[in-house]
Amino acid sequence: MLDINTSIKSVPRITPKYIRVLEKLGLFTVKDLLLYLPFRYDDFSKIVPLSKDFVGQAITTSGKIIKAKNNRLFRRKMTITEIIIEDENGEKLKAVWFNQPYILENFPVGSTARFSGKLGTAGKYFSMSNPAFEKSTRDATNTGCLVPIYSEASGITSKWIRWQIKTLLPLAKNMPDILPEEIRKKYNLSDIYTTLSQIHFPDNAEKLVRAQKRIAFQEMFLVQLKTLEIKKEFEEKNSNKIRFDEKLIKNFVSNLPFKLTNAQRKASFEILKDLERSHPMNRLLNGDVGSGKTIVAAISALQTISAGYQTAIMAPTEVLARQHFESFCEIFKNYDFNIALLTSSYKLVYQKNKNKLVRRDVLLEKIASGKINLVIGTHALIQKDVKFRNLALVIIDEQHRFGVNQRAMLQSETMHIDDGIKKSIPHLLTMTATPIPRTLAIAFFGSLDLSILDEMPKNRKPITTKIVTPSERNKIYEFIRSEIKKERQVFVILPLVEESLSESMLDVKAVKVEHERLSRKIFPEFKLGLLHGKLKAKEKEEVMENFKNKNFDILVSTSVVEVGIDIPNATVIVIENSERFGLTQLHQFRGRVGRGKEQSYCFLFTEKKPARLNIMEKTNDGFEISEHDLKLRGPGQFFGTIQSGLPDIAMEHLSNVKLIKFARAEAKDLLENDPELKGHPLLADALKKFSEKIHLE
Ligand code: ADP
Ligand code: MG
Repeated sequence: MLDINTSIKSVPRITPKYIRVLEKLGLFTVKDLLLYLPFRYDDFSKIVPLSKDFVGQAITTSGKIIKAKNNRLFRRKMTITEIIIEDENGEKLKAVWFNQPYILENFPVGSTARFSGKLGTAGKYFSMSNPAFEKSTRDATNTGCLVPIYSEASGITSKWIRWQIKTLLPLAKNMPDILPEEIRKKYNLSDIYTTLSQIHFPDNAEKLVRAQKRIAFQEMFLVQLKTLEIKKEFEEKNSNKIRFDEKLIKNFVSNLPFKLTNAQRKASFEILKDLERSHPMNRLLNGDVGSGKTIVAAISALQTISAGYQTAIMAPTEVLARQHFESFCEIFKNYDFNIALLTSSYKLVYQKNKNKLVRRDVLLEKIASGKINLVIGTHALIQKDVKFRNLALVIIDEQHRFGVNQRAMLQSETMHIDDGIKKSIPHLLTMTATPIPRTLAIAFFGSLDLSILDEMPKNRKPITTKIVTPSERNKIYEFIRSEIKKERQVFVILPLVEESLSESMLDVKAVKVEHERLSRKIFPEFKLGLLHGKLKAKEKEEVMENFKNKNFDILVSTSVVEVGIDIPNATVIVIENSERFGLTQLHQFRGRVGRGKEQSYCFLFTEKKPARLNIMEKTNDGFEISEHDLKLRGPGQFFGTIQSGLPDIAMEHLSNVKLIKFARAEAKDLLENDPELKGHPLLADALKKFSEKIHLE
């Protein structure tokens, strides 16, 4: 007998070929498969007769098959399956599929079927290419409803997954629910069986949203439990007291080429106070791009190093780590500090104004013996077996859309780092690159200490932003031409073609096509670079390096590529199909320009010109924009993908900040009454799995 814990290997319909793929996706049991959620839905819920009114729309229609055949095009080595159906009004639809000759078996002439897809026309017929289909006698699973689309990355079709889940779903009736019933009742959340039924096969949009809300709440609840657990662990640990040396800091600050903003002053003070305590700091420095987080980090590093301890700074990519290395060498040029850059491709040590390449093992020895005061690297720095002599401060610069899971992981990694000192762990300062809306930050990180840089340095020239409709394109291209003639550089950003979790070959193609078009038709006189996520790390870096060295005038790139690198000479950023992005993300892109002395420009290309974008023209204040975005799209977008297998789509239904507050309050309550989760074995188990997953990422 099958139950939810049965291995997928024992499910009769799942053949070895599929088992391999499912296991690769981390799905081993029936339960795992049932918890594999769609990342979007095709809305085929409208069943309509064939009509000109629906041309261009996604619809479902049904009719009788009157003709069906395979056409083989030998010269093009292609088979086209073509069928004609007639609906009850006598209108005809021609449906075609490419290279799937076996599909023909589904369409005996005279039978009736439903077809879902985008309606077009072909001569006297209506047309659909590659429509989803189903016999009319069957339940609506693939057509005629909100059809779930699963990630097909590993070669399993959504149709196959739907089929499996449909048959296995009844087993979820006995699935224990990890959310305690009291909590479900209190917040009117559906039970797990109803939730899974509606997530995979929604009756309607409303029930789907309710199911997604429950999933979002559950994830948030687990994250909060984890966060509180880590917080408690932190509080039980000791750290080294680092005495605040007023003279040292005052001297450093007065020698800076600028005056600190009040926000920088306040944040630095909060951090220096934390460092004086014998319990580890766990503070988040929340600030916009360009708000001056680096100097705040430098002040805390200066205090730590001067007290005789080591400091580590981590960035998400090698390029950014190297950039930090260069900044810190400059910032501390008048101090007698040894600063090292440690990543897999660089093994540089900076000692008194000269860069010297050293062997990795030599460098590791210097870190272990305490000769190095400040180590800069990627996140791998604390995960690898780097040993320190006395590491007292860890600074993590995120510089990307922060993933809650990564933060939790980095926090617990910090606790297990070999800091070289007995019975202590380092103080931890995390810096975000996206300004997190204040209300959200307080709700989510209520248990964490927060410093906010909500004030920009005064000398900034605000970036001029303009929403550009198709008729104004050429004018903007002319403007760009004049900027490049002044030796300035330009970014062009393309959104993902399909809403999905990662960049696909389609996106690579789209960015190549645009690169080609701009190179040939618009800017034949300039040099254009091309950047996308499918390039190897080394290739990406080479492209960036070339752009930085002005070997390209324009860089065309997909949106997923992290270009955190400083290109002060870039003064223009063009964002194609800008309506496809959230405001926070647009603001983030915009931060790639405006880093130099010259006036910078951001052009939001769009055909639709939604009112939502207007705020981008009005303000450069990241907090204002993210607060606005929070109201428009809810908090889910700020969390990234919380857990592999939990797509953004569920988080999108984390409809308000209140839900997060509730999740935190409930998590706190539960832990207060049952700190070891002894009375909640299901939750304890889920939390353990959750932590394991985080570690695997
Ligand atoms: P981010 O918060 O994005 O990390 P940075 O720390 O890189 O920002 O600072 C951006 C730029 O602003 C740097 O060139 C830095 O030297 C400069 N800067 C930082 N603080 C101030 C200030 N108070 N006044 C003027 N310029 C500043
Ligand atoms: Mg920074």
